[in-house]
Amino acid sequence: MDDWVLENLSIAEAASRKGLCDRCLGRLFGKLGTGMTNDQRGRIIRESLTLNGISSSAPDICGLCDDVFDSLDIFADAAAASILSVESDNFLIGSRVDPEIAAKEKALWEELGAENAEPLKTELNREIGKLALPKIHRAVEFKNPQVVACVDTQFADVTLDVAPIFIYGRYNKLSREIPQTIWPCRVCKGKGCQRCKGVGKMYNTSVQEIIGDIAIDMSGGKEHFLHGMGREDIDALMLGTGRPFVLEISSPRIRDINLDDLEKRSNGSDLAKFNSLRFTTRDAVQRTKDLAPTKTYKVRVKVNGKVNKERVNEVAQSFRNLCIDQRTPARVEHRRADLVRKREVLWVEADWIDEGTFDLTLETESGTYVKEFVSGDDGRSRPNFSEALGMQCRVETLDVLAINDHEVIR
Ligand SMILES: [Zn+2]
Ligand SMILES: [Zn+2]
Repeated sequence: MDDWVLENLSIAEAASRKGLCDRCLGRLFGKLGTGMTNDQRGRIIRESLTLNGISSSAPDICGLCDDVFDSLDIFADAAAASILSVESDNFLIGSRVDPEIAAKEKALWEELGAENAEPLKTELNREIGKLALPKIHRAVEFKNPQVVACVDTQFADVTLDVAPIFIYGRYNKLSREIPQTIWPCRVCKGKGCQRCKGVGKMYNTSVQEIIGDIAIDMSGGKEHFLHGMGREDIDALMLGTGRPFVLEISSPRIRDINLDDLEKRSNGSDLAKFNSLRFTTRDAVQRTKDLAPTKTYKVRVKVNGKVNKERVNEVAQSFRNLCIDQRTPARVEHRRADLVRKREVLWVEADWIDEGTFDLTLETESGTYVKEFVSGDDGRSRPNFSEALGMQCRVETLDVLAINDHEVIR
């Protein structure tokens, strides 16, 4: 007789009176006796008990699992079919056990003092997985599975959880009339109302929708999310090499979409352009949001009065590595806390156009309110360009020329 059986004979005897099938009996000692199935464990225990003059036979229907293991083939088929309905490199199968059975199992462990038991769920996962694997022809992945099929053993149905895909890229925004991301209607919050003519949005489209809708079409995914490295105002253009972003597509049926095609199709719009698309991982989202590189801007400025070229150049050059105090601008005061931030203006260059107009190109620390630096925002930003020039300046247009990120996000 095996040692582990002898040592646990009294628990085995008590267990044998609970009307358990061989698997459930064996599983109570699942961490003992290697190289065998719970089924075999259960039979060894019964034989040992018989040798010791204790009669114990398996019941017609197991008092614990309700003979759930008879349905393993059905569970495995359902899980395999579900996984095969989407494209993936790997998968994992899990299960949801009838809560009543799980509670019964726990009570049984406590009553018997079964310290070496394996949970029913663990055996189910393993056995369903074993049967499903040859039907699926993909790798099993425990850590970061692309697809998880959860079998509900009570109803024999399968819930499929498909991990999102993440696509890194950079965008240019060439329109002053679209936002970076979907902007739900202020009145109805997206449900559709008179204000938004039933669309549920404040703007017809956005950078996010231009690329996201095409990515959904190509991948068969459900929803898209755009995580940008900051954002520009709606009326600002995003020029140069573009702004980094990560596009997230939830529940894709096809993961390995052709990114060259996605780029080409997305660039069919003249509102926004995309470049440098490549697949990335979930952690790129946070890293993209956390980076706060300096930005280079170009602003078209109008002044009330006449200004000459030399004076504009002189003032521009006076702003070099200068720290400015910016109180929360009047225009965003209603949605942000009123406080004073310190931001650095690295350099400013002027380009005189006529007596009432000039362009400024400037590089500033992330989070600088550039329009307010130029206008002064009624003294809320200081020092500021208007004050230094001695004339009230007004920003006519603002464009982002560069996001000066150097860290490569993988
Ligand atoms: Zn059972
Ligand atoms: Zn609305």
